[in-house]
Amino acid sequence: MPAAYKVIDHTYDAVVVGAGGSGLRATMGIAEAGLKTACITKVFPTRSHTVAAQGGIAASLGNNSPDHWSWHMYDTVKGSDWLGDQDAIEYMVREAPQAVYELEHAGVPFSRNDDGTIYQRPFGGHMQNMGEGPPVQRTCAAADRTGHAMLHALYQQSLKYDADFFIEYFALDLIMENGQCRGVIALSMEDGSIHRFRAHAVVLATGGYGRCYFSATSAHTCTGDGNAMVLRAGLPLQDMEFVQFHPTGIYGAGVLITEGARGEGGYLTNSEGERFMERYAPSAKDLASRDVVSRSMAMEIREGRGVGKEKDHIYLHLNHIDPNVLHERLPGITETGKIFAGVDLTRQALPVVPTVHYNMGGIPTNYHGEVIAPKDGNPDAIVPGLFAVGEAACVSVHGANRLGSNSLIDLVVFGRATGLRLKETLKPNTSHNPLPKDSADLALGRLDRFRYANGGTKTADIRGQMQRTMQRHCAVFRDNELLTEGQAKMGEVYRSMGDVKTADRSLIWNTDLIETLELDNLLAQAVVTMESAANRKESRGAHVNEDHPDRDDADWMKHTITTFMGWGGEGGAVAIDYRPVHDYTLTDDVEYIKPKKRVY
Ligand SMILES: Cc1cc2nc3c(=O)[nH]c(=O)nc-3n(C[C@H](O)[C@H](O)[C@H](O)COP(=O)(O)OP(=O)(O)OC[C@H]3O[C@@H](n4cnc5c(N)ncnc54)[C@H](O)[C@@H]3O)c2cc1C
Repeated sequence: MPAAYKVIDHTYDAVVVGAGGSGLRATMGIAEAGLKTACITKVFPTRSHTVAAQGGIAASLGNNSPDHWSWHMYDTVKGSDWLGDQDAIEYMVREAPQAVYELEHAGVPFSRNDDGTIYQRPFGGHMQNMGEGPPVQRTCAAADRTGHAMLHALYQQSLKYDADFFIEYFALDLIMENGQCRGVIALSMEDGSIHRFRAHAVVLATGGYGRCYFSATSAHTCTGDGNAMVLRAGLPLQDMEFVQFHPTGIYGAGVLITEGARGEGGYLTNSEGERFMERYAPSAKDLASRDVVSRSMAMEIREGRGVGKEKDHIYLHLNHIDPNVLHERLPGITETGKIFAGVDLTRQALPVVPTVHYNMGGIPTNYHGEVIAPKDGNPDAIVPGLFAVGEAACVSVHGANRLGSNSLIDLVVFGRATGLRLKETLKPNTSHNPLPKDSADLALGRLDRFRYANGGTKTADIRGQMQRTMQRHCAVFRDNELLTEGQAKMGEVYRSMGDVKTADRSLIWNTDLIETLELDNLLAQAVVTMESAANRKESRGAHVNEDHPDRDDADWMKHTITTFMGWGGEGGAVAIDYRPVHDYTLTDDVEYIKPKKRVY
């Protein structure tokens, strides 16, 4: 039985969990609709991982080169390796320009062209003329600090519309009743009080789970807490085998160098000084999509043409670019190169290596942000009261591989869509039914169990085991043997959580406890990711199984749906099912884009 915890009750029309780009955009829209809105976040809003987004946000404004939303749609579908849902993709690319102008009006200081319009740069996989090329300039940016600028503008706007913020509150679990989401339980990390939020709608905007891996560009807070809450509620996650490796993480540190660096003319070389991307992607070269560039780099390294003492990384060159351009358009990475690699970008090449960057998989939703859980033969059945947006969600617009600068636009388009949906479906101050008596039991039972956990293994040790196992067995290259071994090892690591030990028993800023709760969240997702990867017997987008090197549309053009039974090292079985990919568009303005071989 959980010890007595003091529970403080709150009632809202809607509660958003997460204050990154997606959570803040949702909060702003919901509050603007006159609904009583709370936003819960474990870090101060402007410290969410979105703050680190450098390169920019894609929208077919056509300021620096001709562009059209249907070209953006084509590139996104192709980038997704035909696993994206085309209705959702059409929605995103058509709403994108409006969403960017709204950001501009909300105060985002975009970089400008001489005529005052928003400056746009090229980015990998974004082309003109339905993929024919040349590269399009579609990515709007505030220098290389786009996410930073977005968060500040969106936080200010959310405050303007009177949303309540619960900052440094850690959401523990959803409150579910008869398949409906009724609210969420959170812990105030400052004083240990427990808060029960009753709401007609809960929006999960908790970001990705990159920290399952050893080397990741994402913040240490990217532990996919919302995804894990969904699993504990018995609901499914989708397409978890698709993990994006960014080609240019700084070797050793894992810190990101934006694709904008190649957009501005940077290029990669191997130990022979060769610009090898010309061989792998003759037309797009260094600006091919991320999965293609990462894999090409890994091939070069495997074939002995890596650079450095261990021949285990690649060089990125920016030293040929005018220092004034670097200073103006890429000031942040110039600094990053100096601090994390000790390299002066204007004179030297940067050591880089493919690094975990983004999770295409997550909580399945439709393009209104409503969470989906297939039921009674309906693959698109909605979970009442539950929404998901941002990297936590799988709409699915990115399918098997996300294009650079398509996440920031996903955040604001679907954050906004969720606000619009709630405005349409929920009246302010609608009365609430009482919550079930056991509404806090799951959350508090779990909290209590980890708070007093007295086994023999430290949280950090289990986390290290998980991260190394994922990095070794579930990375850029996968094959049957690696994955089968990986399944067994991850099972073992998962079970070792039953022996975890926490040292701090207090509830005041107990980082030991919070990290343990986060690890438990990560473990469930690591197991699901490994199982989904082992299950998919084809290669598509970011998932490459060398024993099944081709894309297999006949058998595998479908979303993986996974549920997980267990937490805390107990249970741990994964059930796998499928959902059809939406092979239709939203309107008749554009035709379904038929599958083709993906070459850049
Ligand atoms: C280094 C880097 C650079 C990138 N650059 C670009 C780019 O240029 N263009 C692009 O399109 N994409 C980029 N991406 C991807 C993109 O930035 C992310 O996918 C996106 O910012 C995720 O936003 P989000 O709103 O989903 O979540 P996040 O910004 O990750 O925020 C998650 C929020 O959830 C809260 N939260 C999580 N768990 C809990 C909990 N248990 N309780 C309470 N609150 C919780 C956190 O406090 C935080 O506020 C980049 C990613 C990285 C890592």
